[in-house]
Amino acid sequence: MTRTVELAGFPHQRLNPLTGRWILVSPQRTQRPWLGKVEERPLEATLAFDPSCYLCPGNTRAGDARNPQYSSTFVFDNDYPALLPDTPHREIDESGLIVGRSEQGLCRVICFSPRHDRTIPRLSAQELRQVVDVWVEQYQKLGSMFFVNHVLLFENRGVIMGASNPHPHCQVWANATVPDEIQTEQNSLLQYRARIGSCLLCDYLRLELQLAERIVCENEGFVVVVPYWAVWPFETLLLSRRHFGAMDQLTSHERDLLGDILKRLTTRYDNLFETAFPYSMGFHQMPTDRKSHPEWHFHAHYYPPLLRSATVQKFMVGYEMLATPQRDITAESAADCLRGLSEVHYLQSRRA
Ligand SMILES: [Zn+2]
Ligand SMILES: [Zn+2]
Ligand SMILES: [Zn+2]
Repeated sequence: MTRTVELAGFPHQRLNPLTGRWILVSPQRTQRPWLGKVEERPLEATLAFDPSCYLCPGNTRAGDARNPQYSSTFVFDNDYPALLPDTPHREIDESGLIVGRSEQGLCRVICFSPRHDRTIPRLSAQELRQVVDVWVEQYQKLGSMFFVNHVLLFENRGVIMGASNPHPHCQVWANATVPDEIQTEQNSLLQYRARIGSCLLCDYLRLELQLAERIVCENEGFVVVVPYWAVWPFETLLLSRRHFGAMDQLTSHERDLLGDILKRLTTRYDNLFETAFPYSMGFHQMPTDRKSHPEWHFHAHYYPPLLRSATVQKFMVGYEMLATPQRDITAESAADCLRGLSEVHYLQSRRA
């Protein structure tokens, strides 16, 4: 047992060392233990092909675009991109008060599978490897474009996360400016390295493995924890055991291990409330700005909005919107919950 226990009974603040921001934890508001799922929800769509889906093979998308009859992964430029590669350079600065600049970039969509119903937890090891391979390929390809200094691969899953389509897919946005969240974490990683002489996330991972209070699952290459400073009820942080900056440095074996850990984690998520668990997830890795980044440690964040069941959602409103994020269920109980779940997907065990 550790000193974290000393705070367990009272409202307390936890620091996120990656962002320097604090979160408020109120464990006294969850006096009773977690009760498991409390209500039924509609079953997941189980269509293998949906004629009205713009991501299924052979279907038409926006305008005249038609998807090929693809049989594994499929990558295309977003039909409604948030960033454009041919944006001209413009800057405004009115007395340092009204300051703006144009931003160059591009957005792509990556379909994980031709199957409309094959989400990450339901892909085979071989299919997951194809997904990891295409991620690495896109990170490298887009990152090597002359104006691209950062590449973000992220997945929005579920209607409440704003995903417009349940077909398993993710997005990749590549742009000229290193985004705020990445820059903030990079500053923290650099400062820690300058102060302590080692990697913040290597040291944090070592501490978590030693304490064994917040670990959800692990394999030879990766560990998933509910971070001490988690904001979302079932937020997780996926860390590589080895120190490296980006997914193009994954060994072939680690690519398989990444697929494996993603499947284990998302299966647990789906099993938690027996639903297609919604989340936003993304990989944080070193910028592609042609500078050396020994400080970067490859990782992924999962931010899921569900609280107590498939239908009860956490909202960031009130105090959280105006002051600082707050949570009731502690990171330790959330980790206990997730760790205890089966690695067999509930749809599969129902069929058995
Ligand atoms: Zn589809
Ligand atoms: Zn590290
Ligand atoms: Zn991060």
